[in-house]
Amino acid sequence: KYAQPSLRSVLESTQAYGDRTFLELDGLQMSYDSHLVAATAFGCSLFEDFDIGIGDRVAIAMRNCPEWSVAFFGAAAVGAVIVSLNAWWTGEELLYGIADAGVKVLVVDRERWNRLMPEIDRLRTIGVERIFLVDPDAQSEVDQSDIEILADFNVFLERPDQDSHSQPLSLPAIDLSSQDLATIFYTSGTTSRPKGVLGTHGNICSNMMTRQFARAVRREALSGASETGVDVDGDVYLLTAPLFHAMGCHSALLGTIACGGTLLLMHKWDADKALTLIESRHVTTFGGAPTMIRQIIDALENRQADLGSLRELLVGGAPLSRALVSHTKDALPDVVLENGYGMTEASSTISFISGSDCENNPESVGPPIPVSDVKVIGPDGSDLPWGESGELCIRGPGVALGYWREPKATEAVFGGGWLRTGDIAVIDKNGRINLIDRVKDVIIRGGENISSVEVEGRLLEHPSVLDAAVIAVPDLVLGERVGAIVVLRQSMDATGDELSQFLSERMARFKVPDRYWFREGELPRGQSGKILKRSLRDELGLDDL
Ligand code: ATP
Ligand code: MG
Repeated sequence: KYAQPSLRSVLESTQAYGDRTFLELDGLQMSYDSHLVAATAFGCSLFEDFDIGIGDRVAIAMRNCPEWSVAFFGAAAVGAVIVSLNAWWTGEELLYGIADAGVKVLVVDRERWNRLMPEIDRLRTIGVERIFLVDPDAQSEVDQSDIEILADFNVFLERPDQDSHSQPLSLPAIDLSSQDLATIFYTSGTTSRPKGVLGTHGNICSNMMTRQFARAVRREALSGASETGVDVDGDVYLLTAPLFHAMGCHSALLGTIACGGTLLLMHKWDADKALTLIESRHVTTFGGAPTMIRQIIDALENRQADLGSLRELLVGGAPLSRALVSHTKDALPDVVLENGYGMTEASSTISFISGSDCENNPESVGPPIPVSDVKVIGPDGSDLPWGESGELCIRGPGVALGYWREPKATEAVFGGGWLRTGDIAVIDKNGRINLIDRVKDVIIRGGENISSVEVEGRLLEHPSVLDAAVIAVPDLVLGERVGAIVVLRQSMDATGDELSQFLSERMARFKVPDRYWFREGELPRGQSGKILKRSLRDELGLDDL
């Protein structure tokens, strides 16, 4: 089993945790036992009733809920490939994903079903044989439904009564290997249309090692922080990222299983609700994008909350600014801050940095996890020495097989035996990765490369600036100029000239934006907290210049 880890062996291993709480949403708890029973029942039904086996696609289209995990593990345990659809997609986008992946069975919540219901005939034509509806309140409606392929997911969740339970369900014997395809997870679609990433069982399971390693590092950071040392077992992890992305599923869900912890889910991000949960459920670990951490810190200014249970803040998915690191340190001095860098193509974590290391090196995302290798290459593909900036490439057990039905992109990104991350980085003499920017977001102004992330970070140090995005503005003379879209804090003021003055005291003149747009409200962001610079450019009509 150890030599061939799979999502099935992970599911089976959860038996050891018995009736400990595994998943929780809005006060409703699901124990490891109940989860195992439900996932097994779902897996058996797929196998027996729908002939689902190794390689068949089962799609999940839901927001965060315990049933997401039941469907995920149940289907994977009988060899199905999980197609993890983005819950934010429109009916049309969901339909595209379902058709593109050749899905046979679909698990949806009520909101997604409402988007898909009008297209039921197209779903049938695509070859969808069964749609399981996850909706705790609407059983009768499903029963009365005249859509014969629609079924109620609740049947798997009910514990069989004593009589029928004499023979416990067991999963069918199948020959599942670590190299078998387990998942198609979509990239966030920050730079172009989301791509489906092909993850094997081995790829996904490698996150359990990562999490254990991270805990060992953090334990060190924690015992440094407190004289008595702290017991870090039994994490209560508040997850704000979606399970349908690698960070939520591979890092948080599998990471929680690795330590027998509890994962608190939120249906929808809400900073105030998160604070209440941390207090009332004694959350030890908070995971989210930098914007969420910022909102938590801001919310703390307006209200009292006892966050004494909180031991660590895991941040990732988007650049963490120096300003946010220091605000966090001020607001939550006893909490270990950890910045994790990952991507879907690497089945999540590539590197992370924790505790004082993170505070002292806010620009760094730390050394690669011990099972992975990194290097930096130049534009011609040649290896660069440490200390020079270039595209970061990685190798390791998390690197996926490629993209679903995208042979050209697969060759370009996975082709050379290393995964090209699309991120520009410098590896310092201590082996730490310093991320500069995405290749696509670097601004080239008259031949000089400018990191949009660096300029954003500096802007965020200005007391009036709440949020900022820096993008290239096409220019006839210089090729590109620097443009900044700025959101000011409520009742604060600043002009473009003032911001430029502030920046020129902190960075080379050529990096200072030539143009500012002030914006009310939030910047457009994807669900993992990344600024959608494509949308900003579209909104401002910059690509048409
Ligand atoms: P697409 O590939 O579709 O354009 P995406 O790259 O945003 O979207 P993901 O796989 O979700 O899709 O995100 C990976 C990217 O997120 C990384 O390549 C990196 O640019 C960014 N990222 C992740 N973690 C961090 C971090 N801790 N600091 C800075 N950037 C990060
Ligand atoms: Mg990407």
